[in-house]
Amino acid sequence: MRADLLKSELGIRTIADLVRHYPFRHIDRSKFYLISEVDPNAALVQVKGKFIRIDSIGAQRATRMVGAFQDAQGGIMEVVWFRSLTWIKQSIKPDLEYVLFGKPGVFNNKLQMTHPEIELAAEFDKPLKGGLEGVYPVTEKLKSRKLDSRAIRNLMQTALPQVLSSIADTLPAYIIKRQNLLNMRTAIQAIHFPENTQQLSEAQRTLKFEELFYVQMRLMKVKSLREQNIKGLVFETIGDHFNDFYNHHLPFSLTEAQKRVVKEIRKDMGSGRQMNRLLQGDVGSGKTIVALLCALIAIDNGFQAAIMAPTEILSQQHFEGLFELVSEMPINIALLTGSSKTAYRKKLHAQLESGEIHLLIGTHALIEDKVKFKNLGLVVIDEQHRFGVAQRSKLWRKNTVPPHVLVMTATPIPRTLAMTVYGDLDVSVIDELPPGRKPIKTVHKWDSHRLQVFGFMKEQITLGRQIYVVYPLIEESEKLDYKDLMDGYDSICRAFPRPNYEVAIVNGKMKAADKDFEMKRFADGQCQIMVATTVIEVGVNVPNASVMVIESAERFGLSQLHQLRGRVGRGADQSYCILMTGNKLSNEGRVRMNTMVETNDGFRISEVDLKLRGPGDIMGTQQSGALDFQIADIVKDTEVLEAAREEASYIYDNDPGLSHPSLSNVKSHLALMMKNRPNWGRIS
Ligand code: ADP
Ligand code: MG
Repeated sequence: MRADLLKSELGIRTIADLVRHYPFRHIDRSKFYLISEVDPNAALVQVKGKFIRIDSIGAQRATRMVGAFQDAQGGIMEVVWFRSLTWIKQSIKPDLEYVLFGKPGVFNNKLQMTHPEIELAAEFDKPLKGGLEGVYPVTEKLKSRKLDSRAIRNLMQTALPQVLSSIADTLPAYIIKRQNLLNMRTAIQAIHFPENTQQLSEAQRTLKFEELFYVQMRLMKVKSLREQNIKGLVFETIGDHFNDFYNHHLPFSLTEAQKRVVKEIRKDMGSGRQMNRLLQGDVGSGKTIVALLCALIAIDNGFQAAIMAPTEILSQQHFEGLFELVSEMPINIALLTGSSKTAYRKKLHAQLESGEIHLLIGTHALIEDKVKFKNLGLVVIDEQHRFGVAQRSKLWRKNTVPPHVLVMTATPIPRTLAMTVYGDLDVSVIDELPPGRKPIKTVHKWDSHRLQVFGFMKEQITLGRQIYVVYPLIEESEKLDYKDLMDGYDSICRAFPRPNYEVAIVNGKMKAADKDFEMKRFADGQCQIMVATTVIEVGVNVPNASVMVIESAERFGLSQLHQLRGRVGRGADQSYCILMTGNKLSNEGRVRMNTMVETNDGFRISEVDLKLRGPGDIMGTQQSGALDFQIADIVKDTEVLEAAREEASYIYDNDPGLSHPSLSNVKSHLALMMKNRPNWGRIS
């Protein structure tokens, strides 16, 4: 019965599984607080004392038991139960000493604890070594069947000695030594029953290392298998298209960083291996032109190329921009999005299959199975954040020899995340902005300073600049958000009246043609102010726009704020970003505003974002499988992750087949993990 529950709730089938079910934290059971010293904001505390009174209060459904609990020093705390009242009434005896453990709080100015863990002091586990007790993850269902953390701990006490001798090291001895790890037997014993905090942290580090090491081994195995088994298209020529464009149509000279990255990509595409490369570069660093140059290399070698963007607007903009850049060259370029009409689609499909189209730009629509290419040689995925390995691998099937894949991200990904989610990719970084850009000045203003902000906007308009004013639009509160947007638009129209000012507005509800019309008016300089929802986040490129006002900025995430800010600062003028918020700001909101004010560096912003939001939120659900760790935490365990990555890549650099005898355990453990963890499927 218990075995069934453990299996269905926690996936624990064997004793060997059980001992790999680790506590997620440890509490110091040797420490008792004096009630007079308990901080009501503390997470969890343990106190010892007696109930001097227990009463049943309220009637019927509002009935609860309230006890007055007093410790040896006379401090008094209220204890409240809302459930299991009969049991409490029958089993708790005055005069006996109890140990209570729980979260303190305050109610009606009194220190209080509801539903604490409760145990007779006489039965309280004294022989516990070091007093550190593991707290195990359990589900509500397990708790209701009396399989709580304590019960699991008791099971562990029986189970561990039975299997301890059979626990072998999975890591090679040289790594254990070099990384100062415990052997696996000691680590597992100690994670459950640590002798002291020192030993506990060594055990944690060992188990985290083990977990992260195998994640890295797995990623490298994927990479090495791919390199061995998947032949890459060889683009050996740099031909007429590339040279013609580079010499005659490139509107500016490339930055050193852009040149370096193009070189890295060229080398990859000529190597005979399939390229899987991540190109990181901050907003405005000039990734689009890199994508185009790579596409031209593919075309020069007789292949087609595709560039994929996450939204229709961005696809549209890429299409228009690139169309113009290559307009004088014999290159056929086309757009495909979800809203492409059937007749157009049909024609396009035929042209793609015949090879007539050289470069296809589009949304996810272009990876649909219906879309077939004559010979797709390169796929560039732009601004992708929500695009996992599973989808990437779908692209590989678009050609008998899989196309080269270049993934471009605008919001830099924290290094640890990149190593985990994109650990099988090679990485290129554009770490330089095109010349002449002045760093954007960012300020945070309270709503009450609106008039001052309007004044500043007027000054900038007098100088000939243009301004974005952006409102949040979030699905859950769409109606209200639209109201805010329209109210804001009205007030701006009143503050900036005709004929001196023209104000444009764009929002997601407008027809495409109307949106285009308004955006064009702004891009052409016919309006000074563009009021918009986040549709412009990845949209328009207007170098003369130098002020970005973000309304209700506290409602945007950091990466979104950074993206929005990236819409200005594209011309030669000093640009500004003004973050407007109400006077009530959560702590997290404050951190976000301060971070934006302090730095323009996308990498730093992404690190803060990761700490605030956690990896799952940043990468989206598609990749949550890859981020599903048992004990490691990639936000906090950076150092362990780096070490594990280093050891794993050392192995793959020197012995990719894992044939050295010292790696035989690694080899079999890796095979076992790949078989047992369904999640692995998602990242291969
Ligand atoms: P992102 O990396 O955010 O996609 P874009 O490719 O949209 O950036 O480039 C931002 C702007 O910078 C564009 O207007 C582009 O034409 C311009 N740009 C790109 N590279 C250079 C360069 N080397 N010199 C000058 N301007 C450049
Ligand atoms: Mg871009």
